[in-house]
Amino acid sequence: MRKKVEAQGSIQAGAAGDISLLMPSPCSKECPLGTNVKAYVSLVAAGRFTEALAQVRLTNPFPGICGRVCPHPCEAACLRSEVEEPVAIAGLKRFLADYELRQGIMPRLAGPSAAKASGVGRRVAVVGAGPAGLACASDLAAQGHAVKVFEALPVAGGMLAVGIPAYRLPKDILRIEIEAIEAQGVEIALNTQVGRDTTLSALASEYDAVFLAAGAQALRRLGIPGEQGLEQGLIRWADLLRQASLSPAEAFGALQGRTLVVIGGGNTAVDAARAALRAGAGKVTILYRRSRDEMPAFPEEVTAAEEEGVELSFLCSPVRLTAERGRLTGVECVRMKLGKKDGSGRPRPVRIAGSEFLMPCDGIIPAVGQELDPSLLQGRNEVYLAEGQLIQADPQTLATAQAGVFAGGDAVAGPASVVEAIAAGHRAAASIHRFLTGTPPETASPPPEELTIELPTAARRARVRQAKLPASRRRNTFEEIEQVFTPAQAVAEAERCLRCGPCWECATCVGLCDKEQLLLVAEGEAPRLLRVTPEVHGAVSSGDGAPASWQGEAYKGRTFTASVEERLCRGCGLCEELCAYHAVRVTYRGEGIFCAAVDAEACRGCGCCVSVCPTGAMEQGYFTASRLAAQIGSGIRGAAAGIVVFSCHWNPALQAPSTAPAELVRVMCTGRIGPGQLLKAFEQGAKGVAILSCSQQDCHYGFGHGQAEANLQRLADIMELLGLERERLAMIRSSAPGQALAELSGRIRMLESRGGKR
Ligand code: FAD
Repeated sequence: MRKKVEAQGSIQAGAAGDISLLMPSPCSKECPLGTNVKAYVSLVAAGRFTEALAQVRLTNPFPGICGRVCPHPCEAACLRSEVEEPVAIAGLKRFLADYELRQGIMPRLAGPSAAKASGVGRRVAVVGAGPAGLACASDLAAQGHAVKVFEALPVAGGMLAVGIPAYRLPKDILRIEIEAIEAQGVEIALNTQVGRDTTLSALASEYDAVFLAAGAQALRRLGIPGEQGLEQGLIRWADLLRQASLSPAEAFGALQGRTLVVIGGGNTAVDAARAALRAGAGKVTILYRRSRDEMPAFPEEVTAAEEEGVELSFLCSPVRLTAERGRLTGVECVRMKLGKKDGSGRPRPVRIAGSEFLMPCDGIIPAVGQELDPSLLQGRNEVYLAEGQLIQADPQTLATAQAGVFAGGDAVAGPASVVEAIAAGHRAAASIHRFLTGTPPETASPPPEELTIELPTAARRARVRQAKLPASRRRNTFEEIEQVFTPAQAVAEAERCLRCGPCWECATCVGLCDKEQLLLVAEGEAPRLLRVTPEVHGAVSSGDGAPASWQGEAYKGRTFTASVEERLCRGCGLCEELCAYHAVRVTYRGEGIFCAAVDAEACRGCGCCVSVCPTGAMEQGYFTASRLAAQIGSGIRGAAAGIVVFSCHWNPALQAPSTAPAELVRVMCTGRIGPGQLLKAFEQGAKGVAILSCSQQDCHYGFGHGQAEANLQRLADIMELLGLERERLAMIRSSAPGQALAELSGRIRMLESRGGKR
């Protein structure tokens, strides 16, 4: 399966031992936070849950919340859906957060390091303790700033606390994840409304910067006849959901037996309808003016609402409320049809004349949009407000027209999602930190390239489903509906990930093989491999020499990175095509000349590129062609049967037995030995050549074993062309090669007795 996606660059290992990803898989690319999804899913598959959660928290301080309510655009992009269904990425994130809590561990977020805390600490005010405000506060605290959050409500969390009901987001999960932010040193002042208890100008003069993250909770009116002057029957979704969140016991029975109509098609409408059922309503109908496909609410929530008994009425719109003595008696509606697309990209609903009908009800819940409550701006609307009652801010920096005041989240974007609010909080924190420290803005990253991802052909494997409370029980409880994966289920689900792209990004390599790239060579001794810092590696490979402390010792440091003799290079690109580390690039040098160049930082020193170079321009450090020729020569002299065996350095299991009729020549990877090198062994007097190679799973470089096989096959073809006996070659994939070598030796004896041609 081949798939084209837009992607950037390659994977880089940072000096601090971290791995920084420049080639995101489709799931990460769709995540507003850029979370390295493939990395944490891979770690779950390996049962490394703590590391997986740490990976999530690099970009998201709310894994328990997002694992439950995120609309998971990552899953929409998941290429597993081309096999059967996307990986349950959000469910895995939730599993990680819950697993930690079940171990009795409270979440911890990075506090300011001593270095960061000293010198930067400035004072920042954040207005609104929703996900945007809290994410921003968390980042700024980690940078060493003193942050105070001003929140109008008696509880922190914004719409997570008083909007999204507990059956989707239990409030103790929210509390615990907010406490982790407070533990970073963030102060939250509850019951403090900016515009009433303090003012924006007071904050702007008292603090070094202000972030406005007040959300969009002011309710929009329906704007139809009968709405004004209605004394009974108008129910505010915000009041209903706030009561359901803050005092669910009081919510039960509050709407006993009522017949309700909810107007709108977003999450707010769906949650209001579901909460109304739990509050005892006898019948709840959602009216939406477009069709089901255009509903902005998450499809799984719409389905859940239906399962619980909410009725849905599509393609109809309210035109008038009917009432008797101030009491609502019904909604007059008109049928709609879908017309041409409007500015939102959705088909415009068009009235069908004469299709009016009455829907009797005694309560109506308008949920047709939200906007900012501008009272916090103290009438300075011309400075702050854009069209549509939202705050105007620079889309990149989130700076408003007033210096030092930034804004983000729903207050700027309009009603959106938790993950987008968190992303805005991160962006604001980065801008505020730059503003406070006078750091210049980051340079824009290069535009994405198109990359073809080779996906493994995967067997169909059903998505593991989270258990749910039965619909019959849900109407009477605000208890959480979706249950968490068990560890075994989580691992099974994570194993479905196709790990799009060449690397699993599990970071296992960091600190293991990375930079173990320097050979310590002493006179008369076998070289020893050293793990060194990138700086030492860079100094040795650039010829600046080893650290001063090594001077005068009886050994030398040598890198085995590849290099190009530009004079010989014809720019054919075979080396670039082969290198799985993207360490070799062919570039145009002008005047019709193309030439390869090796990035010493990215090169892992396998030497496979040398084996495909047709002109001998490519060479490997230390394991040079002349060194190998010398080794082969002495090997042939030492081996009774004249067999030269090449073997991989990394696999110590690949040992020739002491009784073997052969001499072992160790290289970093057997893929390094090209047909020319193998033929040279015969020229130097070898009677047979064998490659003692790893299997695919064991190969240190992942692709060297295949290259070794291809090289040997190419030599066999050449020998056949030259009329030489290919029986003198052997590929041995065994950690106990005694018998295979004895067989090769036997074959050679036979050929020699017949006067073989070699
Ligand atoms: P908010 O969460 O609205 O927080 C703003 C905070 O600012 C509030 O606490 C408010 O009290 C405070 N504030 C306002 N004015 C002032 C003032 N003058 N002084 C001090 N404080 C002030 N998103 C999802 O991703 N998944 C879902 O399943 C989902 N379901 C939803 C269900 C409902 C019913 C609703 C209403 C929204 C839902 N959303 C969902 C959307 C999501 O909750 C919001 O997009 C997100 O919370 C916005 O974050 P925010 O920080 O910008 O604003």
